[in-house]
Amino acid sequence: MAAKPQQTGRRKKKPAQMAVITDCCTGCAGSPVCQTLCPVENCMQLIHDDQSNPFGYIWVDPLKCIGCKQCISQGPNREGMESLYLIGCPWDAIQMTPTDQVEKAYGTLEY
Ligand code: SF4
Ligand code: SF4
Repeated sequence: MAAKPQQTGRRKKKPAQMAVITDCCTGCAGSPVCQTLCPVENCMQLIHDDQSNPFGYIWVDPLKCIGCKQCISQGPNREGMESLYLIGCPWDAIQMTPTDQVEKAYGTLEY
């Protein structure tokens, strides 16, 4: 029997946009809401930074993000949903950014 290909967790296709975390990230007091919404394992990682933020901040692995927007702040009147509650990042700290802009800033991403 052929060996199963190794799961890398990287996306198969480069998305048109991806999540970028801004300075507004508070680390959600050590329990990041965004991590619970992201469907990709280890895509959103909590980086500890005792000096500037005791709860750390989130870093999105640009090789794993599929641009699904599950993590971003979405208000109660979002399209197709009937909910009184805000979902996604409570601090509006996640910006969906065109991938070519991310690559301009950080270099070409392999995938
Ligand atoms: S939900 Fe927002 S504020 Fe909370 S850890 Fe994630 S990006 Fe940071
Ligand atoms: S856009 Fe989707 S894959 Fe990317 S960080 Fe947010 S929830 Fe995860």
